[in-house]
Amino acid sequence: MKVAVIGAGVIGITTAYELALDGHEVTVFERRSTAAEEASFANGSLIAPAWLASLANVGRTSNLFWPTTANPGGLRLTGLSGHAQWAWFWRWQRAARAPLQTERQAALFRLAAFSLERLTAISTEERLEYDRSQGLLVLWRSEREAALARSALPGLREQGAVMRELDATQARLIEPSLNPDTTLAGALELPTGMAANCRQFTLQLKSLAQLRGCHFQFGCEVARLDTTGHGVTLTLSAGNTAPQPFDAAVLCAGSAGAALLRPLGWQAPTQTVYGHSVSAAVREPLDAPLSAVIDARHQISISRLGQRVRVAGGTTLGGRPGRLSASEMRRLYRVLMDWFPGAARLGGPQGSVQEWRGAQVLVPDALPLLGESSVPRIWLNLAHGSGGWALACGCARALADQMLGRTSDIDLDPFSPARIKA
Ligand SMILES: Cc1cc2nc3c(=O)[nH]c(=O)nc-3n(C[C@H](O)[C@H](O)[C@H](O)COP(=O)(O)OP(=O)(O)OC[C@H]3O[C@@H](n4cnc5c(N)ncnc54)[C@H](O)[C@@H]3O)c2cc1C
Repeated sequence: MKVAVIGAGVIGITTAYELALDGHEVTVFERRSTAAEEASFANGSLIAPAWLASLANVGRTSNLFWPTTANPGGLRLTGLSGHAQWAWFWRWQRAARAPLQTERQAALFRLAAFSLERLTAISTEERLEYDRSQGLLVLWRSEREAALARSALPGLREQGAVMRELDATQARLIEPSLNPDTTLAGALELPTGMAANCRQFTLQLKSLAQLRGCHFQFGCEVARLDTTGHGVTLTLSAGNTAPQPFDAAVLCAGSAGAALLRPLGWQAPTQTVYGHSVSAAVREPLDAPLSAVIDARHQISISRLGQRVRVAGGTTLGGRPGRLSASEMRRLYRVLMDWFPGAARLGGPQGSVQEWRGAQVLVPDALPLLGESSVPRIWLNLAHGSGGWALACGCARALADQMLGRTSDIDLDPFSPARIKA
């Protein structure tokens, strides 16, 4: 088939790669000048199925990683603007209380585990070299947090999650640079979790997709999609090129996906929320994390990516578009100072700090939209929330299988766009 992929973030690139492996003729359209310039640019870098599955369990007070948050999924509300954002928020809260929540968590765990397998296989087969470190610790600052989290562990273990509860001494042996002055009640070790550089991976996979025959059109914004009797046409925003015909299109446009679906009569209930990150050079390796930790109370991760440390979190719904939130940035720095005060070079002549804000796209049930949309021949790989990197390789392989009519290795029904009432 001749397939158009719209968007060259980690989702679009992994999708293009898998489709090219299956022998399709693939063209990727990207409005930016290269791949991974938007949400895939400087994310938290975490890949851990149990962590991700715990995010689907957003409505439970005993949520494994976010035990003290008042709002589902740890979303912080900052000045919601208008009826639409409030309406979406109530839908999100209702979905979090729905009885299907445990099944959703299990489905997300299976997809993330499948994705980790596929990421490992691609990385080995293609000999990819990107910054990564093995292991993830979830840090509990109080006994109360630990106790709340403990009640969620049996469910995740049933699904196959490998986890080990640690006391503070054991946790400090795994991450010896954890600040001794910050109270640590205990931790949960996810040995199969990891931190890995999403942007580096995406750029390398893009080159491999190109070698396998994928065409890339950068600086090309798709203005609209239309279906014809037997295919799809793409109209570009700029220039006077004629609409380009394809047999099918896959929408991997992140936060811009819903706008392309609207003219086709599909009102996807997506909401864009924003997260923040700080990346800085390692100041002293002995003071830096060996891999990744998550501060459960603040929902902030600190990861080691080669010679850099990345702190990420602070997800907000609402606020001013396009602006870093000063209060969220302060929280990131504060949590870094709490756990690894000497890790990063935050100032001085050799300091090079990158502060970043990126979009996360969510639907109320917190599962991705993966499969053919209600508009024939338009496929979706969208709405991965805070887990797009962890899910990318699995979603791409599963979608490629679906497009060939092959049965996938995992049950994809929970992610079908058909579950959404248009
Ligand atoms: C602060 C933060 C921390 C995060 N931490 C993690 C984490 O630890 N682990 C994890 O798994 N995930 C994490 N995520 C989520 C993850 O980064 C995203 O889910 C993932 O990057 C989404 O990838 P994407 O390809 O769908 O979107 P994007 O990377 O945004 O790519 C979409 C692309 O589509 C292009 N595009 C849009 N519209 C058009 C158009 N009309 N024509 C042409 N091109 C178009 C855009 O330019 C863009 O390049 C985090 C996100 C944030 C913001």
